[in-house]
Amino acid sequence: QATIRQLFLQHVGQTSPAPLALHITKASGAKMWDANGKEYIDLIGGISVCNVGHCHPKVVEAIKKQADDYLHIMVYGELIESPQVQYAHLLTQYLPLSLNAVFFTASGTEATEGAMKLAKRATGRTQIISFKNSYHGSTQGALSLMGSEYWQQAFRPLLPGVLQLRYNVFEDLENINEQTACVVAETIQAEAGVNVPDKKWMQALRNKCTETGALLVLDEIQCGFGRNGSLWAFEQFNIVPDILLLGKALGGGMPLGAFIADKKLMDCFTNNPVLGHINTFGGHPVCCAAGMAAMQVLVTEKLWETVAEKEQLFKKRLVHPKIKKINRCGLMMALYFEDFNSNKKIIDACIAHGLFTDWFLFAPEALRIVPPLNISNEEIETACKIIWKVLDV
Ligand code: PMP
Repeated sequence: QATIRQLFLQHVGQTSPAPLALHITKASGAKMWDANGKEYIDLIGGISVCNVGHCHPKVVEAIKKQADDYLHIMVYGELIESPQVQYAHLLTQYLPLSLNAVFFTASGTEATEGAMKLAKRATGRTQIISFKNSYHGSTQGALSLMGSEYWQQAFRPLLPGVLQLRYNVFEDLENINEQTACVVAETIQAEAGVNVPDKKWMQALRNKCTETGALLVLDEIQCGFGRNGSLWAFEQFNIVPDILLLGKALGGGMPLGAFIADKKLMDCFTNNPVLGHINTFGGHPVCCAAGMAAMQVLVTEKLWETVAEKEQLFKKRLVHPKIKKINRCGLMMALYFEDFNSNKKIIDACIAHGLFTDWFLFAPEALRIVPPLNISNEEIETACKIIWKVLDV
């Protein structure tokens, strides 16, 4: 009889020739267990999804309660589904006044797609600007924005009219002009290996968009929800985007994405053409109930307020000659090693010692630390000890 590992390799669509293929059977808080009962500290939380930890009891309770009432009933946007309405209301209470209308999707990349369409429809312009080493999703529109020839080349032709600029380079902002429908940027570039822009550059980007009438789309799919020490990363730059992209932690462990804008802007999708953007599962009631429960935990416990202290603890414990540098912004950190091969060996050894982590798309030489925000200090100490043990071999 085939093992589950063999069945996984044979029948589940694969994304790499050598998947980790760890069989995880349980996860709770910042820990996971495999089929042999081996425990792992999870340093990546589903890649910035589980900000309130795996299987938070409040999230699980909300899922069960909603599942008792109804699952899917109708395509997105037609019926009043209270989990959607309540979650949209909660989100907007914690956002600037101009971000008051939430369009729910089923994933992050769909949020990117929706925002690009909204910007084209609202401005009547066609050019879209993104940045080198950016990641906004894998569907064809989002892939067209991706700042990497390596991942784009096999899938051309992609969207025409996309211009890529260098992130955090002032002079490149001159390319934004009256033809630009929108500029899409991660507030903190994640897959670039945690690339934090200058505050002044972000503000110049905001100003240039305002001057030219281009919409500023900030992607906080990976960096939002408290990860950087404030609820939203853009707060740290004193700017407000025209459209905000959310995903990952938005669903509290369930699939959910959203693009958020001013109601007047969002209403463009209601006419010319009517049904300008539609989908079946966006804002699934169970996902909204779960996401809302997770956000309530986040805001009630003000989890972002503990982020700076935990970041410092990691920083203090991770001083080692083999660590070349640490890029960081709150609990979003990249430990840089010599090259991909040495990093991969370190990652594999960490996993063997019960510490779960991975690398970044555009920084394969860097190890990722994006744990649940409620990871304990004790778990951080243990995680750092494992990294030290691995590095000292
Ligand atoms: N934007 C950013 C910054 C991301 O990190 C990701 C996912 N890694 C996405 C968009 C796409 O989200 P999804 O995988 O849910 O489509």
